[in-house]
Amino acid sequence: MKQKPIYLASDSKARRKLLRLFGLKFSVIPSRIKEDDFIEGMSFAQLVKRNARRKAEAVAARLKKGIVIAADTIVVQGKKVFGKPKDLASASKMLKYLSGKTQWIYSGLCVIDVEKKITKLAVEKTKIYMDHLQDKEIKGYFRCVNPLDKAGSFDIQGKGGFFIRRIDGCFYNVVGLPVRRLYRMLKEIGVRIFSFSIFCILSLVSGLFSGCSTEYNVVTGQQEVFYYSTEREIALGQAMAKEIEKQYKPVSDPLIQEKVASIGKQIATVSDRKDVNYEFKVLEENEVNAVALPGGYVYVFKGLVEKISNDDELAAVLAHEVGHIVARHSIKRLQAIMGYSLMRLLSIPLSENSEVLATSDAAFTTLLLGYSREDELLADQLGARYAKLAGYNPRGMISFLEKLQEDNRRKPPRPKNYLKTHPFTADRIRVVKQELGESLSFTDYINVEDRPYEKKAR
Ligand code: ZN
Repeated sequence: MKQKPIYLASDSKARRKLLRLFGLKFSVIPSRIKEDDFIEGMSFAQLVKRNARRKAEAVAARLKKGIVIAADTIVVQGKKVFGKPKDLASASKMLKYLSGKTQWIYSGLCVIDVEKKITKLAVEKTKIYMDHLQDKEIKGYFRCVNPLDKAGSFDIQGKGGFFIRRIDGCFYNVVGLPVRRLYRMLKEIGVRIFSFSIFCILSLVSGLFSGCSTEYNVVTGQQEVFYYSTEREIALGQAMAKEIEKQYKPVSDPLIQEKVASIGKQIATVSDRKDVNYEFKVLEENEVNAVALPGGYVYVFKGLVEKISNDDELAAVLAHEVGHIVARHSIKRLQAIMGYSLMRLLSIPLSENSEVLATSDAAFTTLLLGYSREDELLADQLGARYAKLAGYNPRGMISFLEKLQEDNRRKPPRPKNYLKTHPFTADRIRVVKQELGESLSFTDYINVEDRPYEKKAR
C-alpha cells in the first residue's frame, strides 16, 4: 500500500527537525492561523487542542488527500500562559519569570486524514523544573539562541537544556512535538511509519549515557568514543530484545531455531568480541531481513531464512550481523540518532526510577533500516573472516546477495527488505572477495546498478 503524503501544518524549525530526525517524510504547509492563548472558561488542555485543530483544519481545507499533522504548544506556570515571545524584551521577561519555578508544557496535537475525513485530537503534558537563572545567564543565552520562535523563550534540546533540572513526562513534548503520542495517533488512523522512532525520555534509561568512555576498537584499530559502556549496551539490548519479542513472535519450529542458534554461536566464538553473550533467534515475519541489536542480539526474519539455500549462506548472513555487533554499529547509530544534547540531558538523573526500561519497536526499526555504506562493508569484511574461521564457505554471502539481486530484478524490494536496507551489492561482493584474497575480475569494478527497476534520473 502506498503511503499517503504527510503534511506538517507548522513552520516551526524544532518540529520539522524532530520529524526528520525520526525519519518521517513530509512537506510543510504553514497554517497561518493565529493561536489563542486564552479563552474564557476553557482549560489549557482544551485550548491547545483547539489551536491544533484549527491549524490542521486550515491546511486540510487546501488539500484533496493526505495526512495533516498540527500541534500547538504552550508553557504554563501557575495560571499564566506563555506562548512565543513577541520580542527580545518580552522573551527576557518571560524567562526571568519562569526561572526557578516548575512549569507545565501543554501540547495539543491534531492529525487529520483528509480523504477519509478522520480527525484525531490529543494533548500531552510534561512538567519541567527550571533552575534559578541570573540576568547575565539569560542575556548570554539570548546571544546564542533566538527565543522568538520558542514557547516560553527557551529550547530544551539546545542550550536551554542547561537550565532544566528535571522533567516529568515526554521529553520531545518540551522540544515541540510529543512524538510518542503522535506515533500512536498516526498508527490509529492507519499510517504505517516504520522509520519512526518513539523515544520518550521516561521510557529510556536515566543516566544511560553517563558511562561515556573511550575504547580501542579491535576491528577498526582506532580509539573511539562510546557514550555507552559495554554494560549499558547490554542493558539497552536486553530491554529492546524484550520489547521486540513481545511484538514479533519467534518462529515455533525448534529445528529452525536450533540451527540458526548453533551456527550463530560458532561464528560468535571466533569473532573479535567476546564481552557480550550472543543470542540468535528467528522471528515469524515474512520480510527478508536480519538485524543486530546492541549487546549481542541477532534477529533473523523467517522470510530471509526461507531464501537461504545452505549453511554457508546462513553462516555468512549471521557473520555479517555479528560483524555489526563487533564493530558496535547499532550503538553508533542510536547515538547518532539521539544526538549529543539528548545524551547530555539523559546523563542527568531524571527521577528515582533509574531502571532500564523498554525502548521501543521503533528503535528496532531504525536499526532495521541498515547502516551507512562504510559500516555495511566493514560488516561484510568481518563476516567473511568469521564465516571462514568458523569453517564455512564465506562465498555464501556472494551467492546469497546474487540470488536476492536476481529476485529483485523482477520485483522491487519492499522497504524493509534486506537489499533495500543493505544496498551496494556490487561493492559488497567485491569486499568479500578482497577479504578472501581472491583476484578480482573486471566485472567487479563495473558499477552494477543495484536497483534496476528504479529509473535513473537524467
Ligand atoms: Zn548490515
